[in-house]
Amino acid sequence: AASAAARLDLDGNPIAPLTICMIGAGGFIGSHLCEKLMAETAHVVYAVDVYCDKIRHLVDPAPPYLHGRISFHRLNIKNDSRLEGLIKMADLTINLAAICTPADYNTRPLDTIYSNFIDALPVVKYCSENNKRLIHFSTCEVYGKTIGSFLPTDHPLRKEPEFYVLKEDESPCIFGPIVKQRWSYACAKQLIERLIFAEGAENGLEFTIVRPFNWIGPRMDFIPGVDGPSEGVPRVLACFSNNLLRREPLKLVDGGQSQRTFVYIKDAIEAVHLMIENPARANGQIFNVGNPNNEVTVRQLAEMMTEVYANVSGEPPLDEPMIDVSSKQFYGEGYDDSDKRIPDMTIINKQLGWNPKTPLKDLLETTLTYQHKTYKEAIKRQMSQASAS
Ligand code: NAD
Ligand code: UDP
Repeated sequence: AASAAARLDLDGNPIAPLTICMIGAGGFIGSHLCEKLMAETAHVVYAVDVYCDKIRHLVDPAPPYLHGRISFHRLNIKNDSRLEGLIKMADLTINLAAICTPADYNTRPLDTIYSNFIDALPVVKYCSENNKRLIHFSTCEVYGKTIGSFLPTDHPLRKEPEFYVLKEDESPCIFGPIVKQRWSYACAKQLIERLIFAEGAENGLEFTIVRPFNWIGPRMDFIPGVDGPSEGVPRVLACFSNNLLRREPLKLVDGGQSQRTFVYIKDAIEAVHLMIENPARANGQIFNVGNPNNEVTVRQLAEMMTEVYANVSGEPPLDEPMIDVSSKQFYGEGYDDSDKRIPDMTIINKQLGWNPKTPLKDLLETTLTYQHKTYKEAIKRQMSQASAS
């Protein structure tokens, strides 16, 4: 384990060991953050979640070298009175808990709104009342659509950065109409951001808001029918991985023309680590965390993943590696999409000196190698059983 005494923050001050209440610690981001904190710091983590499959190697049971450093608390923050006690005992609360898969936003809008707004309220309240610092996970979706998306497709202004680059303190939040229930998530996240910001302004809450821009890597979501429901629809990385593992064509929703910037989870976790240990630089801030250099359309992502997976698995790609599907078929009524997501990096770079490093090709290689190793045998077994019966 790292020796805490030797470690300094960005201003040259020694970093004191913290006790951190991490809510949603059993999820994709939480699992990587727990690993990072256990490997490189002396902080203590209360890992709160309804399940712990992704952090089992850290908590079930905790290995001897982590004795006293991490404990798992299986609880649902919707209705568990133990939450307040954990927040009170910690120096810092990090809230990652959310329903955050687009397939849910238009099909389970009530659960989505409750999870992202109502269930987060007590967390904000306990932090504010007990003068505890809060790092809250929001989303790049609070920006919604770009200004440029309302111009005609070939309009020259669409190429001007003012019409698409997303800035924490300047860009508006542009959502579709209420019938487009896709925006239930973005809207709930926006309102909790405004509430946290207001707690900071009126009651002095020390907060940091994180807006992740498509963080991806190992352990993201689930593979339907293996470690998640067979009818479940995860985010795009897991959807495409699932198709590749099963040798099915990748499904491009509405032509795959939407653009995304993908950042490697391990780069992004570095940014969160800096926020945790540099409160003077992170408090009161909203941070975009993404990689503006890794922009692709969803179609280009599908092409890259197909090529990388062929190298990783040694299986040649299908003759028709992709098919088009309408968003109505794929997600149902009320789906809508963000057109383009380029994060402005000025604020995080100035406050924390952070920059993303890993190119898309490299992170896809690492991630698809993990997917292949983790899931290929299970899928083979499943598919041979299905064809035998
Ligand atoms: P995830 O679904 O893997 O993790 C969320 C975790 O929260 C899950 O383990 C879940 O069990 C837990 N949780 C949900 N409701 C809970 C409750 N009521 N009580 C206890 N635990 C509960 O998702 P993730 O990708 O790790 O995302 C974490 C946060 O980051 C979310 O707030 C999400 O909105 C935000 N975010 C992530 C991305 C990304 O690129 N991964 C992008 C935008 C926003
Ligand atoms: N998408 C797709 N095929 C899939 C899954 C997703 O074309 O099998 C598209 C989806 O419509 C969106 C993009 O991929 O344009 C990213 O989707 P994701 O679920 O990762 O989340 P988002 O970035 O929209 O929050």
